[in-house]
Amino acid sequence: MSEAVAETVAARFSELYGAEPHGVWAAPGRVNLIGEHTDYNDGFVMPFALPHTAVAAVSRREDGVLRLHSADVRDGVSELRLDDLTPESDKNWTAYPAGAVWALREAGHAVTGADIHLASTVPSGAGLSSSAALEVVVALALNDLFSLGLRGWQLARLCQRAENVYVGAPVGIMDQTASACCEAGHALFLDTRDLSQKQIPFDLAAEGMRLLVVDTQVKHSHSEGEYGKRRAGCEKGAALLGVNALRDIAYDDLDAALARLGDDEEVRRLVRHVVTEDERVERVVSLLESGDDTRAIGPILVEGHTSLRDDFRISCPELDLVVDTALASGALGARMTGGGFGGSAIVLAEETDVDAITKAVTEAFAAAGFTTPRVFEAVPSAGARRVR
Ligand code: ADP
Ligand code: MG
Repeated sequence: MSEAVAETVAARFSELYGAEPHGVWAAPGRVNLIGEHTDYNDGFVMPFALPHTAVAAVSRREDGVLRLHSADVRDGVSELRLDDLTPESDKNWTAYPAGAVWALREAGHAVTGADIHLASTVPSGAGLSSSAALEVVVALALNDLFSLGLRGWQLARLCQRAENVYVGAPVGIMDQTASACCEAGHALFLDTRDLSQKQIPFDLAAEGMRLLVVDTQVKHSHSEGEYGKRRAGCEKGAALLGVNALRDIAYDDLDAALARLGDDEEVRRLVRHVVTEDERVERVVSLLESGDDTRAIGPILVEGHTSLRDDFRISCPELDLVVDTALASGALGARMTGGGFGGSAIVLAEETDVDAITKAVTEAFAAAGFTTPRVFEAVPSAGARRVR
């Protein structure tokens, strides 16, 4: 994110609210390298931050008023009273930033009001966490302006609560933690049980590789209901196996666990995905830490996609087409990322193969009659920070 962007967002704030903002903050979207649908099973995830960010120009207020504006929606300025903020009362975009304010106050932090102008380059609804970026940028700005002294992981927890309770979306902890805590040039190995984290160097360019994000631009309408079903199925599996969460089933005990589940094929598949996915994250971490050739993570990404497609059953024709076409055009690895049923896929490729893969995927989409996908390169970027 450039100086110029911070300048533009600050200038628009001044137009809207008649004074310079007290500061400008940025929080990124994310892609998940590996570790899908593990975050609500207390498992492992490995996201990294995108160069795309939500940017917020913010001033503090003392009078219990919250004013919100986004450059990216047509609405004018929304004015709310902090005392009126009520969970699940707002079906608009304003629920995300207002939810972050609500969560801070609910946790006892003395936030007395704010004027906020937002602008975001994180594609919305593409599985790249535009929602978490909005929450985290607001929480970080208020943390600074009201000297709350909260750490990144604490802001992430509050933002998750904002999304779960205030917005009413049952998301895990990965997105907010990634936005708050990632570092440039690294992927974040996160244990979602205790939020312990480790920055893992992930510099593909230095090894002549690239990571592409392919946004299919589709979101299938049943995605939310299906997400809820997968979560419920995982909880059922944990209960049947007598553990707190599927994270507690060791990879070496998987066969025994599956045997204990008998003929409940639906639950067996969910359990198998989660337990093998945790093991894949651990394998990717050891590979990256070993200093060996990073290309070796390619096949693990493909295994992850196969597991999401066949066991967890949350892929869709568009995502499968990205993965199959990319692999047929020389990609080192590819998989769907995010919640599923649309959204984005990632492709690991040699720098020299990027153009051919992009062309092949675009042509395959045209031939299948799908909407043209948006393809861009994802460089592991910085987490949330003050920019002005
Ligand atoms: P994702 O987080 O995968 O992008 P979500 O459905 O969780 O998808 O969040 C998308 C929602 O976040 C949008 O519908 C909108 O309400 C809100 N949003 C995202 N970006 C902006 C923005 N720049 N301005 C206002 N609202 C935004
Ligand atoms: Mg989201």
